[in-house]
Amino acid sequence: MKLFKPMENLESEAKKQVHTEGEAEKVRCLIIGSGPAGYTAAIYAARANLKPVLYEGLQPGGQLTTTTEVENYPGYPEGVTGPVMMDDFKKQALRFGTDCRWGIATSVDFSAHPHKVIIDEKKLIQADTVIIATGATAKYMGLESEKKFMGFGVSACATCDGFFYKGLDVAVVGGGDTAAEEALYLAGICNKVHLIHRRGELRASKIMAEKITKTKNIEVHWFSIPVEIVGDQSVNGVILKDVNTGKETRLDVSGFFVAIGHKPNSEIFKDYLTLDSVGYIKTKPDSSKTNVEGVFACGDVMDPVYRQAVTAAGTGCRAAIDAERWLSENR
Ligand code: FAD
Ligand code: NAP
Repeated sequence: MKLFKPMENLESEAKKQVHTEGEAEKVRCLIIGSGPAGYTAAIYAARANLKPVLYEGLQPGGQLTTTTEVENYPGYPEGVTGPVMMDDFKKQALRFGTDCRWGIATSVDFSAHPHKVIIDEKKLIQADTVIIATGATAKYMGLESEKKFMGFGVSACATCDGFFYKGLDVAVVGGGDTAAEEALYLAGICNKVHLIHRRGELRASKIMAEKITKTKNIEVHWFSIPVEIVGDQSVNGVILKDVNTGKETRLDVSGFFVAIGHKPNSEIFKDYLTLDSVGYIKTKPDSSKTNVEGVFACGDVMDPVYRQAVTAAGTGCRAAIDAERWLSENR
């Protein structure tokens, strides 16, 4: 016996359920975001009969839709492209009845229950529980050549893409803990790592900075900024400018890793939720609960440390289970 709906009918059925504009719609579980965290929360919430409504946001499928191969997500022994993987996530969420919709949460009011979320500045949702899975966005330098070689030598994730540069020379830009971590990770895989920093000392914690100086195949280029990434089909070098003298030099590298920080997509929640100094949503220890009852957070928007698809999916599972338990306790 089939306990789930056939795939081809799922999208059209979900669309029929959308309420008319202007009318306040009541939902038990509202999920904001359609990356690995949001879809995993949706799979669990739908199977727990919470009838989740999920808004996909500006980037349906999340960050992985901007990458080619994903080789470290369990269950895909041959690897998979990011867009295909996220399509699989969505199909699985739809299969159990998640109502996936286009739309962006533009503001929230978590001051009273039920929580209010406005979609696209006009549609009001009143939600018993809200699961925030809005992710984080890597900051980039803003160079034209950085855009040109995105996915072809330029990356913002060493754990994700470092393997493709095994035995080669790469550059990392940044001087914080992220850059130090990325450089150390790459040093274990690559022949040589050039760490490029615009000042004369690292912002990274002392212990990380010490590890950098002790690692033989990391060379730090102080007072330097990348002004152009060069290559043909993919990256083969970076032009550095000395910020004191203006002198330009070229480094031959096959990969260019940007590690100048991330921006969690938490702006619209900041009046209600406790955030850390960078903007990550703070959750209670060992749970997805935020400081507001009935509001849960998962994925990169609450994770300054791991920021991986599998960890985002794991916390998405937690958020749905926490939401289901909260609803049972507060029925
Ligand atoms: P995201 O994937 O960032 O998704 C956030 C979602 O929230 C998006 O759908 C967006 O549209 C939505 N959203 C945001 N704001 C709103 C709003 N206001 N209203 C509605 N929706 C909203 N990880 C790996 O494990 N392996 C890899 O190989 C790998 N490769 C990567 C390659 C690249 C180029 C990048 C950028 C990242 C890579 N990562 C990889 C990291 C991985 O993509 C993230 O850790 C993961 O996507 C985080 O999932 P998430 O669901 O928390 O958020
Ligand atoms: P960060 O601390 O803000 O560091 C960003 C780095 O990038 C800084 O060195 C900055 O230079 C440089 N930078 C910023 N914009 C730049 C630009 N346009 N061009 C060139 N360089 C630029 O960010 P982060 O490293 O992502 O860390 C964020 C937070 O997470 C920190 O609190 C950090 O401690 C924490 N974190 C901790 C760990 C860990 O404990 N293992 C790992 C990762 C992150 P300046 O120094 O000159 O400003």
